[in-house]
Amino acid sequence: MLVTTLGYGSAVPHGRVAHVQLHRTRGARFHVSGIPWTAGRSALSRIYAAFECCDLPRIAGAFTLHIRPTDHLKDNTALDLPIALALLGHANAVPAKALRRIFSAGELELDGQLQPPSGIEQHMETHAPSELPVEALLLPDGLGQKFASWGAPGKALRTNHLTQAVNYLQGRQTLPIIAKKNVWNQRKRWKPADGMNWNGLRLSPMQLNALLIATIGQLPLLIIGSAGTGKSHIALALHELLPPLTANQFTEVEHTYRAKGMPLPVTDRPPLRTPHHQCTAAGLMGTISQIGSWIPGELSLANCGLLCLDEFCEFSRDCIEALRGPLESKRFLLSRAQQSRIESTKGWIVATSNPCPCGRFNDGPRHCTCTAGQVQRYLKRLSGPVAERFAVHVETTTAISHDAAPVPNLNAIRDQIATTRNWLNSSPTVHTAPEATAIIQQHALTFRASARGLGHLTTVARLHAAIRQNAQGEAIEIEAEDATFASQLRIFDRPRWWEKTEIP
Ligand SMILES: [Zn+2]
Repeated sequence: MLVTTLGYGSAVPHGRVAHVQLHRTRGARFHVSGIPWTAGRSALSRIYAAFECCDLPRIAGAFTLHIRPTDHLKDNTALDLPIALALLGHANAVPAKALRRIFSAGELELDGQLQPPSGIEQHMETHAPSELPVEALLLPDGLGQKFASWGAPGKALRTNHLTQAVNYLQGRQTLPIIAKKNVWNQRKRWKPADGMNWNGLRLSPMQLNALLIATIGQLPLLIIGSAGTGKSHIALALHELLPPLTANQFTEVEHTYRAKGMPLPVTDRPPLRTPHHQCTAAGLMGTISQIGSWIPGELSLANCGLLCLDEFCEFSRDCIEALRGPLESKRFLLSRAQQSRIESTKGWIVATSNPCPCGRFNDGPRHCTCTAGQVQRYLKRLSGPVAERFAVHVETTTAISHDAAPVPNLNAIRDQIATTRNWLNSSPTVHTAPEATAIIQQHALTFRASARGLGHLTTVARLHAAIRQNAQGEAIEIEAEDATFASQLRIFDRPRWWEKTEIP
């Protein structure tokens, strides 16, 4: 006869749901599989002592205990309770069939008291299913809050003694429900109002508009400019423009951080990830572990927030190529051996780059020491399909252009972004003036822009019109100036962008 139930398997650094199977046949031996034999043996000693103290039946026979998954499971006293219940199922002291839909965890003391196992706080419950399909979760104090969210509301029951679990399963006792703690209400509020990064910026109207457009549309943004022109500063300032996380977004972000085994403070601050250019493609995109579980990369950790790729051209070819999918559709494929999974991210990708290896190309008085070939090779990494996928290109130079000015107050800008977004979400109709259409067509013709590039061009023109109209009116009127602005932002559609070719 076989009895199965669910428990918690701890592994380093992650823990997960463990399936406990206990088979009984004639004989008198005890076999253990899936956890170290000594662990099974000592669990059994504690359990039998507790049975004796609690006057619970102990049944004879040859048992095989199997815990799955078997990978890396270590000595885990949280399995005491499920194993004890499986033994009692064989003894008909509790209904064996019901145990299939019971999740339990707890270390047994010899008098039957249940305790949280020591050190369990170190384990992140990685593979916590969003909701286990169980009838009840039997949990002692100390584990209740940790596991209550694994089941449907009202399914987590406070169980501090083995006899309470037995009486509950026999239908002779009800157990108090453990309420899920609403951590969201106690979240730390994000206060970007001081605008540490944002308020220190000086931008030309064109740069400011370009950044606003990218922020409103969450469009992939590439900032190119010589060293020391504040590219990274701009990227960090853009993070302050993001709205705080909602409760649902926080749950999503938390899920990713759990999968990575990283602690996440309860706050509504959107994630900001700034991986170093030496990170690997797996570190950036994520991967699938040997045992088939998902290990998120920086891109996924930036979900609902901002991924800042500083010195983009210094990233490895693999990283840059891997970003094509997420830049285009926010979706990407992870595969390993026979397994693959499609991931998506709502993270906003902002990249910065020097124009050449020495970082001074095309920057007025500062002399660039690179050869023409070096510059070309450097920028080649950006050229073509990858650069094209960045919808907005912004250029920075040391010589602050004559119209550069301090940026408007952070709160004013945030309000403007929210208003424009709301207006766009109400799907106003779009009118394109014939002059604007002509400019877009001319851009396509002159620079042989791809369909993708033209798509970005139209989006940027539309957003520019929305900002220009200050989110007022019945329809978005795309005028010639909007199309010209959008064309100027497509720096990399131009073969020699530094010459600032205007369309005829
Ligand atoms: Zn140079």
